[in-house]
Amino acid sequence: MIDTKRFQKDFRAIAQFGALDNGGVTRLALSKADHEARNYLIKQMQQADLDVHIDPYGNIRGRRNGSDSQLPAVMVGSHLDTVPQGGHYDGIIGVLAALELVRHLNDEHITTKHPIEIIDFCCEESSRFGVATLGSKGLTGQLNCARMKELCDRDGISFYQALLQSGCSPDVENGGYLTPGDLKAFFELHIEQGPVLEHHQEHLGIVEAIAAPSRFRLTINGRSDHSGTTPMTMRQDALVAAAQLVLGTENIARQSSEQSVATIGEIHTQPNVMNVIPGSVTLGVDIRDIDGDRKQQMVAAFQNLVDTVESQSGCRIHTERLCDDAPVQLDGMLQQQLIDLAQAHQWRWRKMPSGAGHDAMHMARLAPTALIFIPSHNGISHNVAESSSLEDIMRGVTLLSEAVQQSAQE
Ligand SMILES: [Zn+2]
Repeated sequence: MIDTKRFQKDFRAIAQFGALDNGGVTRLALSKADHEARNYLIKQMQQADLDVHIDPYGNIRGRRNGSDSQLPAVMVGSHLDTVPQGGHYDGIIGVLAALELVRHLNDEHITTKHPIEIIDFCCEESSRFGVATLGSKGLTGQLNCARMKELCDRDGISFYQALLQSGCSPDVENGGYLTPGDLKAFFELHIEQGPVLEHHQEHLGIVEAIAAPSRFRLTINGRSDHSGTTPMTMRQDALVAAAQLVLGTENIARQSSEQSVATIGEIHTQPNVMNVIPGSVTLGVDIRDIDGDRKQQMVAAFQNLVDTVESQSGCRIHTERLCDDAPVQLDGMLQQQLIDLAQAHQWRWRKMPSGAGHDAMHMARLAPTALIFIPSHNGISHNVAESSSLEDIMRGVTLLSEAVQQSAQE
């Protein structure tokens, strides 16, 4: 049996590391609090007879041998780091679920055919080094030493240095990453971080695809003039142009599909004074979809919108493209396997997209990959109020455990 009490004990233990007075947690990647959590995990992994090592990217990996150790492993895991003032569920649930499923196999004296490897991905959150999912990027061969030295935190410490200070050996030019064929499959359990499952009173989300953002920084240059003396017909008001872009961008996503989203979440106005017409505005734009073509259509519509607003407002608009990542489709066979298992328990499930990025999106480059969501109370995440019910968590742990075991036996 999956041991709920044992799972809760680990959950409470991890929650102490970086705990805040307001009930939340700050556990930035490779910080003191993160190290405490990582050391706790390593100890538990060793006690579960796993062969534990830390790879060049700071990922903690623990291997349980199969009856044929030459076969590719089934990997399962998530991350222990958090955003500042974060919650206790994002990432943590997936790591502890992986630990619990291995202990369960030990308790039942089950030997799987394929090895099982559990993983705590290093540096999943972008909060410290400005870029998310560094551990899984590294593990999938998308990070070199130069890039690891470039990525610095607020104190100027690079990801590379932080790894060195943590006792890792980040000299990755000789490899240390995985290639297709090295893994049989990858599984991740994660909280939804959105309101959909709870809203529909469903127990589990089976993720079909992970959306990827196209991001832009727009600089709108109009003219700062006296707010009292400049007639309305003689203005180049950058904030009015920005307002048209905000509404137009929202409209593009609403008209695209249910799974399309677009957000202008960042705005800076100059000079930001009540009696001066705004002369310059910068905007941060984030457009996402799980369908690559549909996302490109939204991006094209957005660029048309920018051209139209530019010509009508008299402002000059400079567009800088920050990223344009491709959405990731997850494995159809694994989705069906999860659905069959959920049906057998008569649990309510839905196929859904993931609007947020996860380590699973990189792992999908290597091996058939599955991502399971459990409901987030009120859809809240990256916040001290983040929570999921114990019943939902344990359903997720059970589904993950059954799916991993099945995959490792085939
Ligand atoms: Zn996460």
